[in-house]
Amino acid sequence: MLLKNFFMNLSQNKLLNEMAQKYGYKLGAQTVVAGENVDEMTQSIKELNAAGISATIDNLGEFVDRKEDAIDAKNQILQVVEAIHEHKLDAHISLKPTQLGLDIDYDFCLQNLEEIVEQAYQYNIFVNVDMEDHLHLQPSFDLVDQLLQTYDNVGTVIQAYFYRAEEDVRTYKDERLRLVKGAYKESESVAYQDKGDIDRHFIELIEYHLLHGKFTSIATHDHHVINHVKAFVEEHHISKDKFEFQMLYGFRNDLQHKLANEGYHFCTYVPFGHDWYGYFMRRLAERPQNINLVAKQVFNKKTNTVIAVGTLAFLLGRLSKRRKK
Ligand SMILES: Cc1cc2nc3c(=O)[nH]c(=O)nc-3n(C[C@H](O)[C@H](O)[C@H](O)COP(=O)(O)OP(=O)(O)OC[C@H]3O[C@@H](n4cnc5c(N)ncnc54)[C@H](O)[C@@H]3O)c2cc1C
Repeated sequence: MLLKNFFMNLSQNKLLNEMAQKYGYKLGAQTVVAGENVDEMTQSIKELNAAGISATIDNLGEFVDRKEDAIDAKNQILQVVEAIHEHKLDAHISLKPTQLGLDIDYDFCLQNLEEIVEQAYQYNIFVNVDMEDHLHLQPSFDLVDQLLQTYDNVGTVIQAYFYRAEEDVRTYKDERLRLVKGAYKESESVAYQDKGDIDRHFIELIEYHLLHGKFTSIATHDHHVINHVKAFVEEHHISKDKFEFQMLYGFRNDLQHKLANEGYHFCTYVPFGHDWYGYFMRRLAERPQNINLVAKQVFNKKTNTVIAVGTLAFLLGRLSKRRKK
């Protein structure tokens, strides 16, 4: 829990985010980030597609507070839509409302989103609106509701740690949904804190949507959940075309390929770009062993987790202090 809080706090540090954008990629972020630009990302996706794996592409960035940055982000995502179309990639878009200006102005964000969804709609490309922290939850559902009035190529995410998740899954059961445990630090007033409670709720939501919903993306690295789903769909004769498994780029690669080879639809969440810091810190908060992914790059595969975590914390701490002076 201490380490989880430590990394969650780091994930919100703006200075460290800026430093990471400058130097992080060279330090090893490429293990979990599929390139710095659209060309590199496209190449990574072609490799996944060749292995029978589809992709959902995330142009990294979140919590934007300047209109210019939100417009830049929108333009980059439009380029991704073009790249999917041009290269005939088996891929769709994942995006975050705060990257497109939700913290600046709701209508401005909606307008940005609409532009992307409209262009994707022309090419028959699906757009997933990722869910962020509780503060942005209801406004994000409002955005999704407004988009769904015009478009059918939009879906969203339900985070199982929220008490309200069950109601949300029922509300959106006719949509394509990604179900996850939930990645942000939330208070007890709105979300389960205990891992056992979250896991149980997650399974309940998955079972409900598999039985009653449209298409379910089960996004988890948890083999217990995956094995449960495999047995559940078998028992209830649920077609493999009704669901897919999703994992993050660079995580549990062997299992990703194994599931695809077993004939399950598999989709990898592919982040790319410079703004990888908040994303990666949340991965460390979930599972501090994930530091190994970067440690392998930085420390030539020999350093153990403890040394790697310590070193990273030390470096980040020093950067943070430098700014305060
Ligand atoms: C494709 C995708 C999209 C997501 N989108 C969102 C989103 O929009 N909003 C949001 O809030 N969150 C999102 N998340 C994050 C999600 O909410 C969880 O925080 C994250 O997936 C960690 O939970 P988990 O289910 O993977 O398993 P955990 O609870 O982290 O792990 C459970 C168990 O699985 C095993 N395990 C996990 N990882 C590994 C590993 N790397 N190697 C070996 N064993 C492992 C271990 O035994 C571990 O104890 C997304 C996750 C994925 C995969």
